[in-house]
Amino acid sequence: MSYGDSEYQGQRPLPIGRLILAGIIALVGFITYMGQTQINPVTGEKQHVAMSVDQEMALGLQAAPRMAQQMGGDVSPSDNPKAALVDEVGRRIVRNSDARKSPYVENFHFHLLRDPKTVNAFALPGGQVFITEGLMNRLQNEAQLAGVLGHEIGHVIARHSAQQMAKGQLGQILTVAVGVGADDDRGRGRNAQLVAAMVNQMTQLRYSRTDESEADHYGLKYMAEAGYDPRAMLEVMKILKQASGGQSPPEFLATHPLPETRLEQIRDEIRNDYPDGIPSRLTLGRPLE
Ligand SMILES: [Zn+2]
Repeated sequence: MSYGDSEYQGQRPLPIGRLILAGIIALVGFITYMGQTQINPVTGEKQHVAMSVDQEMALGLQAAPRMAQQMGGDVSPSDNPKAALVDEVGRRIVRNSDARKSPYVENFHFHLLRDPKTVNAFALPGGQVFITEGLMNRLQNEAQLAGVLGHEIGHVIARHSAQQMAKGQLGQILTVAVGVGADDDRGRGRNAQLVAAMVNQMTQLRYSRTDESEADHYGLKYMAEAGYDPRAMLEVMKILKQASGGQSPPEFLATHPLPETRLEQIRDEIRNDYPDGIPSRLTLGRPLE
């Protein structure tokens, strides 16, 4: 130990009380997180989720109008053929794939959003699935749309939002714990808290990339079960990749990172699933204008 360190410790005694308090906060957060364990009925995966299936559906329904409003609002399927197609293809996937075994089956809603600039698709917990006009207008056929919607259905069924929320809660608690433990003077405590927040963010980013791969996996599976050629998912990735170099990279990168890596993974998965080539019953569906 250097002279400087011991001099510092001589001036400020170790904050044992604060360290114990920080430890207790971290422990309670961790125990709460570990206690929120459920088995996913479709994927069979043991997950830490912060809410029940009913809560997810209620939350999704509640948040849907606000989400829609942020991106130009809902296009009504009754007077817009593209919105009707989004609804039709979404329902077809849910009806004809393993997705029908999920507890969300009656609660899926497929929205087209009137935002021609943003190229994105996303899902709220419990079955609210959205695609923007910006992305819809770039798609060339029904199978590509099925790829986008299948991927979002995958996020819903794998309960990624509920999982992220549980992780977010744990992250917040641990951030507070680090702040309390390190608060031997104001500046240091704040710095430590910032570092913890950053680590928390990075952890979530890593998890969300895993989530993306999982959603791609289920998207491929569901679209093929519903009769669509899974190779259309590769075209979707290319369209997204092209769009990320264009007008709206921030949203795109935030929710759907690394199309290059995903492209490779999807290619591998298709090769493994169909070693003898794609069966002719899997089609691209109708072309989109
Ligand atoms: Zn995704």
